[in-house]
Amino acid sequence: MTLLFTNDAGLRHQMPLGHPEQIARLEHVIRALSAPEFAALDRREAPMAAEADLLLAHPESHVAAIREAAPQDGLIALDPDTSMSPGTWEAALRGVGGCLAAVDAVLAGEAKNAFVATRPPGHHAEKTRAMGFCMFGNVAIAAKHALDRHGLSRVAIVDFDVHHGNGTQDLLWDESRVLFISSHQMPLYPGTGAAHERGAHGNILNVPLSPGSDGETMRSIYGSRLFQRLRDYQPELIILSAGFDAHADDPLANLNWTTEDFAWLTRELCKVAEDVCGGRLVSSMEGGYNLDALAEAVAAHVTELMGA
Ligand SMILES: [Zn+2]
Repeated sequence: MTLLFTNDAGLRHQMPLGHPEQIARLEHVIRALSAPEFAALDRREAPMAAEADLLLAHPESHVAAIREAAPQDGLIALDPDTSMSPGTWEAALRGVGGCLAAVDAVLAGEAKNAFVATRPPGHHAEKTRAMGFCMFGNVAIAAKHALDRHGLSRVAIVDFDVHHGNGTQDLLWDESRVLFISSHQMPLYPGTGAAHERGAHGNILNVPLSPGSDGETMRSIYGSRLFQRLRDYQPELIILSAGFDAHADDPLANLNWTTEDFAWLTRELCKVAEDVCGGRLVSSMEGGYNLDALAEAVAAHVTELMGA
């Protein structure tokens, strides 16, 4: 059984005209997951997170800054890449809330795994800085929720978005109970994610990938090192920052993964989850900016989750 958390608030979060992180991304994903082969998904509304949830990973000053920046009409820019519209606050809270509800449901045994299809994404949001289309660190907050409120001891996050998960790294730098693995193109935005960035407890693993490299390179690196590191850590829950912008057709980066590469990676991550934590896995959508490639890769990803 696989859960799908989404909400149409994500369709009311506007960015400037022509921005790649556009409403059509979520529309394409929802349409793809409405196909008959996804009829067995258990579909749920992504609830709004409470502000107390945000404080699991962000200081009150950041929460207040975003809340107060939210416009009544029009758009305001938080940074050159990241804007808020009147619908953004609710959409961002539902992105976090969807991840928390997915953790609750998976840990309660209501489903083996869950996919959270919301926007804005979260993995670039630092403790006190919205950036890279992100306001709050969805997956880092979800990990803290699993640790602090459900009493887990070890959570692993795997971020396969083509960009480094600098926000997740920042939010969890001092967290000894999380293994954070990020593979990403380097050099590329946001510029962080070198292998020597290892966190206060040595449990951040950054894996830079060369521009132009393909799925074969990715499979070799995950297969030879990363899955074993994940198994050795023995997490009680695996959370994915599932970005699909390493796809060859993506306009924002230069990796050459295929849809089948995303399916393979999902399948292998589910196998690890099965072996170490009863299959418990929560996947949260991050990037992916070619609309057709995104929809196809998400469909392949969710197909593998459902088959796990
Ligand atoms: Zn990305």
